[in-house]
Amino acid sequence: MPELPDVETFRRYVDATSLHQRIAGVDLDATRMLQGVRADEIRGALTGGRFEQTARRGKFLFVAIDDGPWLVLHFGMTGLLTYFKADGAAPSHTRLLVQFEDGYRLAGVWRRRLGRIDLAHDPDDFAVTNDLGPDAFEPELGRDALASMLRARRGGLKSALMDQSFVAGIGNVYSDEILFQAGLMPDRAAAELTDDELDALHRALRHVLATAIERQADPGRLPSSWLLPRREEGARCPRCGGALAHDHVAGRTAWYCPRCQC
Ligand SMILES: [Zn+2]
Repeated sequence: MPELPDVETFRRYVDATSLHQRIAGVDLDATRMLQGVRADEIRGALTGGRFEQTARRGKFLFVAIDDGPWLVLHFGMTGLLTYFKADGAAPSHTRLLVQFEDGYRLAGVWRRRLGRIDLAHDPDDFAVTNDLGPDAFEPELGRDALASMLRARRGGLKSALMDQSFVAGIGNVYSDEILFQAGLMPDRAAAELTDDELDALHRALRHVLATAIERQADPGRLPSSWLLPRREEGARCPRCGGALAHDHVAGRTAWYCPRCQC
């Protein structure tokens, strides 16, 4: 499921493939993925324009059409982007197909119709309107900022990390990895971490996101010392070799090592 490192990888992919080419046409098959915007508004905004730059806030990707508005994409559970030459067929489950004048196409593919295609005047405004917290990877989210946010937070650590209005970009999978590397249990009270634990959490958050982005969020390229590729029945902890445990936290399955995390 696309989280911050995946969406950052998509953003870089759009930068590398799709900027500065005139858009000749757009096909949309996105019923239920449009919220407050009509398909013809999206087609009208894109057709004849060019993608000029990209931005990301949490799990949302923004692509500026000329000097605005911005196309907004949320990848839900299954979304991805693919760029190809026009003589190839578009992948099945293509919900958005952007046709460039030079014959190439960019397809947004969502196997399940969970996700969102929208227009925004500005990514910052969109973040406010959609109640997004600070982006989990922005440098301004320093150790002290995170610490004061957590001290004001009720409830457990994993639910805080997954709450997009608290901090944007982290979901079920990367929250498990961050907590594993920080040595903290998913159900620890967010407000009650010691200074050392706050240090460890902030360090793990930066390290996990930076490493995953650098490896293009490809699970096969992530370090073997990570928990992430092992989230399945019968898996052992990469650090101590003990059995991993799982539990329901905030409606999701949290994986953790009961020996290495406290
Ligand atoms: Zn362990």
